[in-house]
Amino acid sequence: MNFESKIELIDGVGKVLASRLKQMGILTIKDLVYHFPYRYEDYSVVKKINELNHEDVVTIKAKVELIANRRSWKKRKVVTEAIVDDGSDRLKIVWFNQPFLIKNIKAGDEIFLSGKVEINNYGTQMVSPSYEKSTSKTIHTARLVSIYPLTQGITAKQFRFLLQKVLLIIKQTKEFLPIDIIERNDFFYLNQALEQIHFPQSHDSMIKAKKRLQFDELFLVQLRIYQAKMELKKSNAPRIKFLEKPTVDFVKSLAFELTTDQKKTAWQIIQDMEFGKPMNRLLEGDVGSGKTVVAALVMQNVILNGYKCIVMAPTEILATQHFETLKKMFDNHFRVGIFTRSQRIIGTESLNKNLIKQKMKNGEFDVVIGTQALIQESVEIKDLGLVIIDEQHRFGVGQRKKLQDKGQKLIPHFLSMTATPIPRTLALALYSDLDLCIIKSMPKGRKQIVSRLVEEINRVKAYDFIKQQVMDGRQVFVICPLIDESDTLGVKSVTAEFKKLTEEIFPQFNIGLLHGKLKSEQKDSVMQGFINKKIDILVSTSVIEVGIDVPNATIMMIEGADRFGLAQLHQFRGRVGRGEHQSYCLLFSDNSGEKTVQRLKYFVECKDGFELAEKDLELRGAGEVYGFRQSGMPEMKVADLLDAEMISLVQTEVGEFFKNNKIEDYPDLLNLFRQKNIIIHFE
Ligand code: ADP
Ligand code: MG
Repeated sequence: MNFESKIELIDGVGKVLASRLKQMGILTIKDLVYHFPYRYEDYSVVKKINELNHEDVVTIKAKVELIANRRSWKKRKVVTEAIVDDGSDRLKIVWFNQPFLIKNIKAGDEIFLSGKVEINNYGTQMVSPSYEKSTSKTIHTARLVSIYPLTQGITAKQFRFLLQKVLLIIKQTKEFLPIDIIERNDFFYLNQALEQIHFPQSHDSMIKAKKRLQFDELFLVQLRIYQAKMELKKSNAPRIKFLEKPTVDFVKSLAFELTTDQKKTAWQIIQDMEFGKPMNRLLEGDVGSGKTVVAALVMQNVILNGYKCIVMAPTEILATQHFETLKKMFDNHFRVGIFTRSQRIIGTESLNKNLIKQKMKNGEFDVVIGTQALIQESVEIKDLGLVIIDEQHRFGVGQRKKLQDKGQKLIPHFLSMTATPIPRTLALALYSDLDLCIIKSMPKGRKQIVSRLVEEINRVKAYDFIKQQVMDGRQVFVICPLIDESDTLGVKSVTAEFKKLTEEIFPQFNIGLLHGKLKSEQKDSVMQGFINKKIDILVSTSVIEVGIDVPNATIMMIEGADRFGLAQLHQFRGRVGRGEHQSYCLLFSDNSGEKTVQRLKYFVECKDGFELAEKDLELRGAGEVYGFRQSGMPEMKVADLLDAEMISLVQTEVGEFFKNNKIEDYPDLLNLFRQKNIIIHFE
């Protein structure tokens, strides 16, 4: 057996257990070993029975005097009772619903018992302690005991038992890090770290194990990023000169004045393309901060230098909206096209896809706006100079190459735009190949959005308020967490909410329904109805989340708000307050738990997307917040993406590594490096 072996090969793993493990994504022994504890129970203090205090969490080592099952009085539950003695005193032990215990533990056995002590009027006892024969080296008692995130039907005890069975394999784990990195940082070797994370000898060795494993995760990611960066440095991109006159004219033609940050970022980006080396940038700016016009300024320079641009949006709706916006902004000076999977352009005649492909190949469009289809359908664009990605963060070197003009040797410049703020440490850890520029200030005259956590007793008032707003000509979003009412937790579903609002609450208004299960034509037509003001109230799931610009919408009502992350709530809130009218964000939540209410109140008070994202990261972890799984990012299991010190250590070590080595000289490292789960560029 080795790391690659299937878990079924472990003695004692039958079909049922194997399928439960599979549910957790554990297929191989490596998966098992890399399923880390999320906390530890400290049973390392061993006491004598006559020293026990109320609520002590301890271990005792004692001899079983007697053990027996009996039925409890009220229900027909089995209670197992034992009396144990360690020479200092006797102690009563109670377990519930584990009748099989009397088969494992017999009178006369010497055992460890770990758990919490209870002292009350009836005496001293331990209820449902962990137990283990004292003959073996313990894994469940008398030490730090690991606790795992598990699905139903698997206990931590079972899990530790399996790990113990593969301990020999763990001990033989091959090292992949260069020795000097390990020595310099006084790290555990990988085999030590893996053993100590599951079965720590002490608190200190657990911390040390964790540190080594955290380093590994970040190191592999950074290595990859560093290499991509080097590769990019070697290639060339079109030289884009800054053209002052047309830029000034363009800015003058706008209906508004640019904010200082818009000017600053546009300037940074344009300058970055002057030297013929590929630009690689992330433009961050809160929802509504006006990133599109910055992108337009940049595109204008690229086009006037004789190159073409593409803009990729995450959905067809957004692609269409960008198409309309840019067509208007460029006012027929440039040829703007659109390319999506279904190729239906709302409000315009549908264009033949092959014709568009041909036109792109011939360079007959200056800008093409599209979705992922641009990559999937291997589109070729003549003289492609700039790729802009809206709201997607990541875009690989490989994808860039796919879009590259096959005729020219130049790599296009790249600009990614996002409204999801990325805290500094996270940016360093996962986006360090991208140069950042940030739009901090909002356009002048924007009214603050009024946010409220609305209590259930005020629901009627909220509906009255919505009614008034709609009668004044405004529009409303209602967000629900789910599509169907299948959820037993009573969370609001869009379909039920749609029915209720249409039939009972607002029969006089036009209400639209939007969710992920609709066909994309249906989605488009609902969305278009909302944009055209044919729909007053749009009931939707989180599909509405990014980008959409409907300035006439003034209320964002969110049902089951506790179900969403703070950054996501902020995205929703950003859908309103985009026009001249005062806007409102109303949160509803059935969950009155203290933590939930605190979190939502924090959101109501905090207007800053960055602060919210950082808080979110702290509360929920990066995987949840940034959806690494969907985006092809590696799963960070132990790495702490707020740990600036560790991240900076990793960066130093990666730099050192490339100074002195080639990855090819480290076959085991190379092997890991090539594994799919750490390839972060979707290649
Ligand atoms: P986001 O950064 O969320 O993509 P958009 O680019 O969609 O924001 O801009 C939001 C709205 O703000 C648009 O209607 C846009 O025309 C408007 N806008 C952008 N810049 C300014 C500005 N400097 N002054 C006033 N309005 C602006
Ligand atoms: Mg946008």
